[in-house]
Amino acid sequence: MNPVPTDAKTTFDALGLTRPILRAVDAAGYSNPTPIQAAAIPPALAGRDVLGCAQTGTGKTAAFTLPMIQRLDAEDVEVATLRALVLTPTRELASQIGDSFDTYAKHVELWHTVIFGGVSQNRQVKELDRGIDVLVATPGRLLDLMGQGLVKLDSIEIFVLDEADRMLDMGFLPDVKRVIAKLPEKRQTFFFSATMPPDIQALAEQLLVDPVQVAVTPVASTAERIDQQLYFVDKGDKTSLLVDILERDDSIEQTLVFTRTKHGANRLVKKLERSGIQAAAIHGNKSQNARERALGSFRTGDLRLLVATDIAARGIDVDGISHVVNFDLPNIPETYVHRIGRTGRAGASGIALSFCDTEERAYLVDIERLIQQHVPRVDDHPFPPSQPPPAATDLEARGKGGGGGKKGGGRGGDGKGSRRGRPSRGRRGGGGGGGGRGRGRRGGSRGRGRSDGASAPRD
Ligand code: AMP
Repeated sequence: MNPVPTDAKTTFDALGLTRPILRAVDAAGYSNPTPIQAAAIPPALAGRDVLGCAQTGTGKTAAFTLPMIQRLDAEDVEVATLRALVLTPTRELASQIGDSFDTYAKHVELWHTVIFGGVSQNRQVKELDRGIDVLVATPGRLLDLMGQGLVKLDSIEIFVLDEADRMLDMGFLPDVKRVIAKLPEKRQTFFFSATMPPDIQALAEQLLVDPVQVAVTPVASTAERIDQQLYFVDKGDKTSLLVDILERDDSIEQTLVFTRTKHGANRLVKKLERSGIQAAAIHGNKSQNARERALGSFRTGDLRLLVATDIAARGIDVDGISHVVNFDLPNIPETYVHRIGRTGRAGASGIALSFCDTEERAYLVDIERLIQQHVPRVDDHPFPPSQPPPAATDLEARGKGGGGGKKGGGRGGDGKGSRRGRPSRGRRGGGGGGGGRGRGRRGGSRGRGRSDGASAPRD
């Protein structure tokens, strides 16, 4: 299975990767690099900064992990020393990046761990104490641990800022900047963002030195390969419409349904269940275990419907999502593109259904102007709106329309950790999470497992 379009002209061999990494890539089943990998890996291996305009699903994680692993592995260090930091907005993304390290660093001797909020910090701290080379973190928990003196960033050589625009959307930018302020000046930086709003552009300019710029799947073209359908419907009829569609169409398999709020997600799941349709909600208020469980059964196909807020959905990496349903239209037009981009991976065309109530019509205008196309309307359905559908959007009009509204969802992704008493550390020397552990053991699984939510969330 090849979930992302690859660049068939290039091979991984040609990118300058070493044997152990090529073996891991091969074992992962990748035949060719994706376009962002082909473009980013050679300059990254040469030590250049990289500005990647790419969203989840493009293979961007390997685009930064592979060269990072190779460069760190090439250095001769006696003990694991915290030399690379990956900052990412959500715990799901953090876990997935940790999984990528497991996969790609299988044959080299590097240690990594993943830290995020919403679970007890104790295991994470223990893992840091044992010494790691690579830290994958969400900003809130990282700052917490830095504040407690448990993580120091002075020896960071490679810094990755992942999903920078999401950091902005989720209100994490101040936290990100506080982390950045503690990084050594001299370092290599990878900066990834699906979109480049002005604040993010400014941050990129501040962080990067003469970067190689790599852009894949620009926002509008994502929308082009997805079969989009628009239903005008009254707010109160949305659930009935969804139930009707689900009952009529068996081809709707793994479906990700977006609601604007966590409460909306919970409400919808309850109503669906009352209609005999099994669904689960995933959002920042759910315990880590509940999220993992819901995601697990969605991945295996046991659960047909996952209802998510934008923030929670950001990190869901599930291949083969057949349908995305915008139960609520987003008020940020780029969010529409991110959402529908969750289906139609592998260059395959997915289907995105959008429900638009009267209040959301202004959002639709913004969306259609952004993607520069009219979302095809389904007029013939059992729950027509009480107000006749609006005229087609004037795509030429200036600006992006009203936009700029407040984003729903809140700071779901990264629960700020507790500030309970400082645990005893018992470290064996060295600072910055770097002490003690000799090399000579494999990077893989030990790292990530520490923070994968095995412990019940307590804070
Ligand atoms: P990402 O954009 O990093 O979230 O990656 C999206 C998905 O693509 C993940 O499931 C990866 O395992 C997969 N992937 C990454 N690189 C390749 C590749 N070269 N060929 C096929 N699949 C890939």
